[in-house]
Formats: sequence, structure tokens, C-alpha cells
Amino acid sequence: MNEEKLAFGTDVSRLLDIVANALYTNRDVFLRELISNAADACDKLRYESLQNPRLVNGNPDFKITIVKNSNDNTLTITDNGIGMNREELVENLGTIARSGTAAMVEAAKNAGAEKGALNLIGQFGVGFYASFMVADKVDVISRKAGEEKIWYWESDGRTGYTVREEESAKIDRGVEITLHLKPDAYDYLNEDNLKRIILAYSDHISVPIIVGAEDKAVNAASALWMRSKNEITQEQYNEFYHHIGHVFDEPIMTSHWRAEGKIEYTALLFIPTMRPFDLYEPGRKHAVRLYVKRVFITDQVQNLIYPWLRFVRGVIDSEDLPLNISREMLQNNPVVAKIRSGVTKRILSDLAALAEKDGAAFETFWYQFGMVVKEGLYDAAEHRDDIFKICRFFSTNANRRLTTLDDYVSRMKEGQEEIYYILGEKLESLEKSPQLEGFKARGLEVLFFNDTIDSFWLQMAGMFKGKKFVSITKGSIDLNKFEAEKKDETPPGNEESVTDLLGVLGEELKADVKQVRISNRLTDSPVCLIADEQGVDMHMERILKTQQKYEPTDNKKILEINRHHALIQMLAGLAKANKDAPALKDAARLLYDQACIIQGEPVNDPSSFARRMAEFMQRGLAA
Ligand code: ADP
Repeated sequence: MNEEKLAFGTDVSRLLDIVANALYTNRDVFLRELISNAADACDKLRYESLQNPRLVNGNPDFKITIVKNSNDNTLTITDNGIGMNREELVENLGTIARSGTAAMVEAAKNAGAEKGALNLIGQFGVGFYASFMVADKVDVISRKAGEEKIWYWESDGRTGYTVREEESAKIDRGVEITLHLKPDAYDYLNEDNLKRIILAYSDHISVPIIVGAEDKAVNAASALWMRSKNEITQEQYNEFYHHIGHVFDEPIMTSHWRAEGKIEYTALLFIPTMRPFDLYEPGRKHAVRLYVKRVFITDQVQNLIYPWLRFVRGVIDSEDLPLNISREMLQNNPVVAKIRSGVTKRILSDLAALAEKDGAAFETFWYQFGMVVKEGLYDAAEHRDDIFKICRFFSTNANRRLTTLDDYVSRMKEGQEEIYYILGEKLESLEKSPQLEGFKARGLEVLFFNDTIDSFWLQMAGMFKGKKFVSITKGSIDLNKFEAEKKDETPPGNEESVTDLLGVLGEELKADVKQVRISNRLTDSPVCLIADEQGVDMHMERILKTQQKYEPTDNKKILEINRHHALIQMLAGLAKANKDAPALKDAARLLYDQACIIQGEPVNDPSSFARRMAEFMQRGLAA
């Protein structure tokens, strides 16, 4: 009867292989996955029926039933949700619809070894396909709400699947899934066992779940977020988080509150421990579901959550929005904007509290999501102060330990008005920057800004609590007003004057640098490069070049020399004796090239650099 035999998409076959071998993973989760799908289907229909009540004709009560048949060893899970038509059966159960599952198959390919792949099932969940952990054949009968035809889908999870119209079945709407259990899965015919699993994983589901012939739901069947906090265990919160996020890590922070007053809503929000795999994909949306008075509306309202909090998962349930609001209308709704503002404040203050209470957990959060949160420093000026409170940076103060800005300010030196920072890519190279030397010698703390995003928020947020952020690789900073901590490092009095040398270097390098000048930020290195006061910071310039194809018209740097350095002193002596000595010209170029290298910039002319280097080495070794 018009039966079609179809092959699974390639990724599905691969996934089913993994699932069929999942003997040692916790197989109970198949039930969680099927119940979760059934509940989502009920949520979808509840929303659709607001516009079109005909869809739930005569039967607006949603439920999920689970019935065993010990004669033929089957388990049937039924819901009266939105259902699927033929196209949807093929699309949803024949290919991998969910991007997370696709990512898991990809990861499993890379993990290779069976064991690695099995762990991944636990982390990602595999939705409907989890059925094949316990069943060697699965039948699906489905009728899409509002449509005439009933469809039958069946598969052994290996050789593909068949679909056909099913004329004898009688269902109003929804999906009925029958699992033909494998002999080693007959445990799942035991109703007490089923109830135990439902309580463990699916108690938070707001649709009643009925087992066998009973009337009473096994689960509490009320929206978890509407229950009071002290009636909910962390395990229940975690299961709910797994359900809505299709993720299987534990949340690092759970925030559950009710806002009352001008606008009323309940929020139950989670911060993951694991970074979502698509956090940096341009199309990545946040993962917070919007409900209105317990009815699921959509998880696509972009304005509900700031992009820089896009890792937050959970539910927001509004009392003020009208139930029949269209998804399009939500985009610019003032209530949504107010909720966003309230939610942002709360999340930021909960994070600040987490930092106080559990520093280690907070740091885990910061390593995962700090660079995303910092996007908010330029994106959301109205929350900037609160974001600053939770920002953490490495600095010269303590080796590889994060500091807050407040702590930085509390350590500022007498007379220090500004917050010093250095921009770069790698902490390891930043820590060795020559430009730091003078600051370290004077006990002035410098922050390491080593995330790309730091260059950008600095453009917008120039100050913290009235203190300007100042780059130590740019412009001039008067360090002489701060006393050096180690007095014995100040050089003896009878030094060569470097005036002649400055002239020679300036002349030789005039095509490359804007100026050559005496530095007060060097103690150990002979030279360093500095960006002009008006110019773009050197690291920022590099980012702009690679990311925005920006070509600065005038990007000449300033070369600073350390006049106390022995090499500079030698060269100063040479310059005084003979300004035209050929060795001076080579030395000028070598000094400039090494400053570039330290800065991570390419040298202009690598072969000339190598030749000069070789000559100097030869001379040095001969002497
Ligand atoms: P996921 O639920 O994560 O999307 P699944 O493989 O479990 O992944 O399901 C794929 C799709 O099949 C679902 O997104 C949904 O559209 C559809 N589906 C699964 N179960 C049901 C059901 N009981 N009722 C209606 N649609 C369903």
C-alpha cells in the first residue's frame, strides 16, 4: 500500500552504529529522550492552538502515556501533541535534525575509539535514536494535528526505514512509538522501574505522564519554574536543564526568581559548565525559552537576552505579554526589553555573588565565558559597571592569578592616576614585553589584556571608576615621577651622551619610524617600539589588519632606546667618534629589526637582517 523503503542519511547510520553499541552506557536515558520529545510536541500544539483552537478539537488536555505489553515484549509511548506528517517523519527521523547531535557524530568520528564515542552519547543525548539502545525494531504511528492522514514509520535501526499511509490506525493527533525491546532490555517492562526512571529524569515535565492503566500522573506535572525554590532539589534543576538544553553537563550556576512589580515574570536560568560548541558561530542564538503564562511561545526572541549572555539557558515566563502575541511582534516589544534589562542585572549580580561564595567555580565560568561577557562592555553601556564588577584579568601583580579591577585600583601607587595595560595575544609573550620593565622596576601594576575583545571594548569604555585605561605601548607616560624600587639599578653618572646616536638612528631609520627617543620604560632591553599617542595601539592594529583588512595610511612607530644599556652606551661612543661609521648603520637596522621581532611584527627585509646578524656574530666571535 504505497509503501516506501528509504535509507537513513549517512550521519544517522553512523549514529545508529554508535547507539547499537552503547551497551555500557546508561540506557535509561532513552525514556527521558522520548518523553522530552513528546512534551515538546505538546508545547508546540498548545501554542498553535491559541491561534487555531480547531487543532485540539474537543480535547485540550495534553498527556503522555506509557504502556507495556509483556506478551510481545513491547513498550508504547504515546502523546497527543502536534504529531508529524509524512514529510516530517522523513525529515525528522530519517536525517539528523538537531545540530547538537550532528556535532556529536562529528566529534565521535574524531574520537575514533568506541569508548570515546560512547562517552559522547552521555554528553549530547541522541534524541529519538536512543530508542535503538533498547529496541531492535521501532514503529511510529503519527498524525499531524489538523490533518487527515495517519502515517506509519518503522525501522530496525540498521537497514533504513519504511513509511506508508496507515488506514486502520485510529488516533486523533500525536505520535505513538512502539519499541520492540531487545531481550536484554526486558527490565523496561517493569512498571515500577519505569516510574523510577520517570521520577529521576522527567519529573519536571509539565505534561502529565501516565504509566499503564492508572489515572494518576507519575510526575508532578506542573511547570518546574512555578514551584517554589525550596521544593526543588538541585538534581531536579539539573534534569530540567538537560531537558531544555539537550545538554548533559551540570550547570555551574542556577538562578531562579520571580520578578514582581511593574512587570511580572518568573525566570529559571542556568549557566553551563561546558562551552556550547557553537558559541562563536555567527548564527548562534541564545537558548532561553519564552513562555507566557505557562504556554511555550518561542525560543527565538533575540531581544530577550543580550548576545553577550548567549550561553545562558533556561526559561522566562511572562505574566504581562498577551498570549496571542505573534512571534514577530515580540521582537520590538517594550515588555521584552524590560525583562531583558531585569534579567541581565540579576544574572550579573548572581555572578558577582558566585565569585564571593565559590571563587573556583566563578573562575571556571570566567575561563569559559569571560571573553563573551566582555563583549557587553561595548554592547551595553547601561550594564557596564556591573560587568566590570565581574571582569577578571591577569596582571603583573601575581603570576597567572586573576585580579578584579577594584583590587587593581586598591594597589595603585601614590600619584598613579591611571590604569596601565598592555594588549597582546599570548600571556607568555606579554609577560616578557620590554615595555613592562620600567613599570615593574617602579612597582606599577600592569594589566594583561590578552583577549581579542579587549581591544574593542577599550574603544568604548575608556575608564573604570574615573580612572583612565592607558596602554603602556602607546604615547608617552611620565614614569620618572615614580621612584624606582631598587635604587642600585640606577646607573652611574659618567655616561656617554646619546644625542649623536639619536641623530644617526633617526637618519638611518627615517623611512621606518616616526621618531627615535630616549625611553623611561626600559631597564633591561636596549630598545622597544611604541605607538604614537594619536595612533592605534600596535596589537589593535594587527587585529584590524587581519580581521577587517584595514591598512593604516601612517602607522610609523616610535623607537625608544634605553640609554643606560651597555650596548646603547657603546654605540653612543661610536657615534660621538664617527657619525658615518658603517657599523652604526647596520646596528641601527638590527636594533629596529629586533624591536619588531619582540613586538611580533615581521622584519621588513629578512635576508638583510640575517646577513647583518651573521656579520655581527662573526665580528663578535673573532674579537
Ligand atoms: P530533537 O528532539 O533534539 O530535535 P530527535 O531526533 O529526538 O531530536 O527528534 C527530531 C525531531 O523529530 C524533533 O525535533 C521533532 O520535530 C520530531 N519529533 C520527535 N518526536 C516527536 C513527537 N513525539 N511528536 C512530534 N514530533 C516529534
